[in-house]
Amino acid sequence: MNRPLTGELQALDRAHHLHPFTDFKALGEEGSRIITHAEGVYIHDSEGRRILDGMAGLWCVNLGYGRQELVDAATEQMRQLPYYNNFFKTTHEPAVRLAEKLCQLAPDSINRVFFTGSGSEANDTVLRMVRRYWALKDKPHRQIVIARENAYHGSTVAGMSLGGMAPMHAQGGPCVPGIEHIRQPYWFGEGRFGEGRGQSPETFGQACAQALEDKIRELGEDNVAAFIAEPVQGAGGAIIPPESYWPAIKAVLAKYDILLVIDEVICGFGRLGEWFGSQHYALEPDLMPIAKGLSSGYLPIGGVLVGDRVAETLVEEGGEFFHGFTYSGHPTCAAVALKNLELMEQEGVVARVRDELGPYLARRWAELGDHPLVGEARSLGLIGALELVADKSSGERFDKALAAGNLCRDLSFEKGLVMRSVGDTMIISPPLVITREQIDELVALARQALDDTARRLGK
Ligand code: PLP
Repeated sequence: MNRPLTGELQALDRAHHLHPFTDFKALGEEGSRIITHAEGVYIHDSEGRRILDGMAGLWCVNLGYGRQELVDAATEQMRQLPYYNNFFKTTHEPAVRLAEKLCQLAPDSINRVFFTGSGSEANDTVLRMVRRYWALKDKPHRQIVIARENAYHGSTVAGMSLGGMAPMHAQGGPCVPGIEHIRQPYWFGEGRFGEGRGQSPETFGQACAQALEDKIRELGEDNVAAFIAEPVQGAGGAIIPPESYWPAIKAVLAKYDILLVIDEVICGFGRLGEWFGSQHYALEPDLMPIAKGLSSGYLPIGGVLVGDRVAETLVEEGGEFFHGFTYSGHPTCAAVALKNLELMEQEGVVARVRDELGPYLARRWAELGDHPLVGEARSLGLIGALELVADKSSGERFDKALAAGNLCRDLSFEKGLVMRSVGDTMIISPPLVITREQIDELVALARQALDDTARRLGK
């Protein structure tokens, strides 16, 4: 793409296009970057730069860019039946086949799926299902869902309310009532260099699970419907919990008979080296919202995988569930998602993340821990984070006004790597088809970005 066209698109973008999570005033003269095309793990911009996409788009392009098989699946389906709905008593083959495939891949206690158009819609659906379930069980007082601070569960009003992002709550007006938040198992920020200072990671993980029990007691166990969390909190900062955390959470939920909702929108479809993050942590969720990697982001599709306990109640006792979306199980999206899962299976993508790429990334990524700006370098499967600090020994952060994370993100892009910043935590979540050589390239680019950031911060 030539420069005049880039300028024209940037001007039109500024004039007409309100895009998500963007401060338009701050965008200023610079304008948005125009992404033109992509292949494998690389995206290209209109200035002719090739950039390694260390974020797989928005944690979703698991199979990488440019897969002709997915284009063919969409084309074929669009010719045959581009759209039909699944309302009332109709359905179609792509939705049914995809439902079957998902249930094969999910933990054993999950045998049904409700489709949505996105992860946010999936979490709205979760809230409705959870409350409906307890109403059908003659416990309508069980209304409250406990979620975690700093979690992201989507941008609809219910998604935003389930999420624990304070700036979203501040802008979003009153949240959906009946949602409470507890602390996150953020070892680096709240354990090692926070109120858990002096504890071991395992003790800290147990203390975070104790916060769930304390909250349940405070609210009254008969009022709590469900607990929702991601296996590894993604947009909250790639927060990998201590090993003690999930077993302790499971025990608390079992004690009070509270439903477990595991948001698999990021961790699902191979990110942690299993089909679902739940399988990595041996969790047996009652509900699993999914999206993103389900279609490798090629078309929008999400859903809720529904465990037998909830599904049987909704089906046997619930009558019609007054809920659904025009694009629930959209045939073209479903056909692409099915092909995506088939390709992942045929190519052994998930096992490769578990056995080869995850361990390799862990080793290479950890090397960045020696950088003067890095307080911690952690990863699991193909998700990773770097904690930027002003002082490695005390964990002291940079002055917020310096926006060190955003600076590092922008300098990283200049170097040719997409990293995301969550405050001063840098995140990566590359396509699962990345090679070892490309992991080497990613780590080298991240180090250069850190060096540039250190120079700019006078370190
Ligand atoms: N849940 C989690 C864990 C997410 O990370 C996201 C999006 O980033 C969502 C839900 C919302 O998904 P969507 O953007 O498809 O609505």
